[in-house]
Amino acid sequence: MVGAQLIDGKGIAAEIRQELTEEVAKLREQNIVPGLTVVLVGDDPASQTYVRSKQRACEEVGIRSEVKRLPADTSQSQLIDLLKELNQDPKVHGILVQLPLPKHMDADEVLRAIDPGKDVDGFHPVNVGCLWTGLSHQGFVPCTPAGIMELLQRTGINPQGLHAVVVGRSNIVGKPIAALLLQANATVTICHSRTENLPEHCRGADILVAAVGKPRFIKGDWIKPGAVVIDVGINRVDGALCGDVDESAREAAGYLTPVPGGVGPMTIAELLSNTVAAAKRTL
Ligand code: NDP
Repeated sequence: MVGAQLIDGKGIAAEIRQELTEEVAKLREQNIVPGLTVVLVGDDPASQTYVRSKQRACEEVGIRSEVKRLPADTSQSQLIDLLKELNQDPKVHGILVQLPLPKHMDADEVLRAIDPGKDVDGFHPVNVGCLWTGLSHQGFVPCTPAGIMELLQRTGINPQGLHAVVVGRSNIVGKPIAALLLQANATVTICHSRTENLPEHCRGADILVAAVGKPRFIKGDWIKPGAVVIDVGINRVDGALCGDVDESAREAAGYLTPVPGGVGPMTIAELLSNTVAAAKRTL
């Protein structure tokens, strides 16, 4: 058996960053410097790492990035006051509140305080509404699902008429990728922890998106031969990263995103892309 062709998310993300570098240079010629402000509350080590990678990626393409660090005991109203200031600041085109927030905060309420026009994470209900009503070009699409669609497109995979099965229904990955696949004319099934006969559902998938958060959960014999398998999972097992899809899927799948180096790098590339889009809209 030949085995799956790996989809090189790392390479595709680098390509996108290169394209964005050129776009940012053109915007700078028109005196527009795209700006992203990341708000980080508390000192969660994983969040610190994510924020650093976002900053580095911004610098690489010429986006002005700023991190507002707030102590873990910041009150929700103090955080919302800061967001209101950022909403008014014309130098700030994109605002991102790094999740998770400390337990005493209501993340939904905080995210609703971001101006939807600056919500480059695409989590504000206005942007969620745009996505489900087919108006995503007017709003912002969450970065990971947007990255998955870009991977499919740049690999020459058209979802139209295909059966896409999404395992996971989070607001960050599962639901928005289901909306985007539907918009791309796939027939979409969404599975979750209460789904019965999950392996059977997966076996019907031409495109299988695994966003479960459980290491190697999807097995090789759940994969339809030749299917496109998008592994969103990032799990740490014995100090190494692995996805939600078991190694055994490689034999049956036609295409597979590796972990690391598949969907992961696309998420940051799409954040940059949303920030540049936000800056362009001010023209
Ligand atoms: P969540 O924990 O928010 O959602 C997980 C989903 O999986 C839920 O909808 C849950 O169902 C479902 N699920 C859990 N157990 C089962 C089961 N036994 N059978 C079927 N479905 C199940 O996770 P996220 O969506 O935020 O993330 C998913 C994975 O993707 C994680 O590994 C995360 O680290 C990774 N991730 C990667 C990103 C990247 O850039 N590559 C970005 C974001 C996330 P229910 O709703 O019923 O509880």
